[in-house]
Amino acid sequence: MTATTSGGIAGKGTFARGVHPPEGKQFAEHQSIEVLPTPEQVLIPLQQHIGAPCTPVFEKPRQEVAWGDVLGEAGGFVSAPVHSPIAGQTAMLSVATLPNGRHVKAVPVKAGEEQPSDDQIRADVLGGDWPVTGLDTHAPEAIVSAVQSAGLVGMGGAAFPTHVKLTRNEAKPVDTLLLNGCECEPYLTADHRVMVEATSAVVCGALLAARAAGADNIIIAIESNKPDAVDALKQAADGTGITVAMVETKYPMGGERQTVLAVLGREVPTGGLPLDVGVVVMNVGTAAAVARAVLRGKPLTHRVVTVSGAGIRQPKNLLVPIGVSYGELIDACGGLTADAARVVAGGPMMGFTISQMNTPVTKGTSGLTVLTEADVRQAEETNCVRCGRCVDVCPLNLVPTKMALASRHKDWDLAKQYHLPACCECGCCAYICPARLPLVQLMRMGKAQMPR
Ligand code: SF4
Ligand code: SF4
Repeated sequence: MTATTSGGIAGKGTFARGVHPPEGKQFAEHQSIEVLPTPEQVLIPLQQHIGAPCTPVFEKPRQEVAWGDVLGEAGGFVSAPVHSPIAGQTAMLSVATLPNGRHVKAVPVKAGEEQPSDDQIRADVLGGDWPVTGLDTHAPEAIVSAVQSAGLVGMGGAAFPTHVKLTRNEAKPVDTLLLNGCECEPYLTADHRVMVEATSAVVCGALLAARAAGADNIIIAIESNKPDAVDALKQAADGTGITVAMVETKYPMGGERQTVLAVLGREVPTGGLPLDVGVVVMNVGTAAAVARAVLRGKPLTHRVVTVSGAGIRQPKNLLVPIGVSYGELIDACGGLTADAARVVAGGPMMGFTISQMNTPVTKGTSGLTVLTEADVRQAEETNCVRCGRCVDVCPLNLVPTKMALASRHKDWDLAKQYHLPACCECGCCAYICPARLPLVQLMRMGKAQMPR
């Protein structure tokens, strides 16, 4: 398949291997973004990003805070401050359990009586006019500084501090900003709705981010299963020089390496970054947040989260404050169905099964998928039948059988020999494995335990 574009694209619009799991997008793709009413309390983890944890600003509880006040200062350059998404009062420093099982310090904030209305929240976060011309009055350093102060991190899940990505590196110049609107993970539709409903914010943020990074070329990559987002962005980007590229719907198209290859035809080296081939990749929701940070001076306090799957009564895309619990999102969607069997933070391919409904939404939470008994019913794990299907689908050309074996037996020499650290945990191998081996869990365990 060749990428369908409004300009020239060097890639083929696809990549080798990968899988085509059931998309599950039909549950929420046409649900307009709804604002979640302000909850009674939020719990703000002091580490929601890759890098150093934040330092709490308040040493004592019961401090009055306004919407947007800093709760935690960045703990270093590779870190991002956290802010209060509601007006209220802080409580005693607490601990939050994240979906991956990590325990991190967190600041509870109890809501005060005065809160903005749902309409005000929507208008503040996503609404209003976003210019696509005249942005050259913003100096690159000023854009990076605004992004840093706003606590922006990648909202596609990786949660890498955005200001670090946008800071120019003379040794590795950037020519292309690649906006990632693929959202290849089944069920999730948050990025899709942002592209359709906050289109000009995405375009404005892309122009600002490219200016900061020094990229002359801007491309927005969108999978072919979102034609309305392609049309909306082509219209909003008309005359800006931005190219909108429609790529094949295939998992994991949204992985950075796969998007760069599909759109630009460039191979990111094993263990390397898109920066090594002159590219900065940014999620579309992050781009909208860049516009808000730079033009309105607003921190990252809210995000769009999809709550979807056959196990939820009313699938929705919700605009929610960071720190609200997963349980409240489920309640806002009418609760679980009688046959709901598993709640997954994220989508079924890369997400984490969670059991604690008080888990808070973080900056990188893009969705919650509720699977039914029929969804999760599967054969028991058996021995590897050496069919080689996992090798056939691995988009990184790795050998999952060997890496899983190395992880199981803690054979770190074998793990290094087969490049275990390069595994992106996409889950293609586990999806295709007829023996139902827990390949991704083994990769995760091995990556976490192997000495560096
Ligand atoms: S080995 Fe890693 S990168 Fe390859 S398919 Fe499995 S999870 Fe994905
Ligand atoms: S797909 Fe599963 S059964 Fe087949 S070789 Fe890979 S691990 Fe073994």
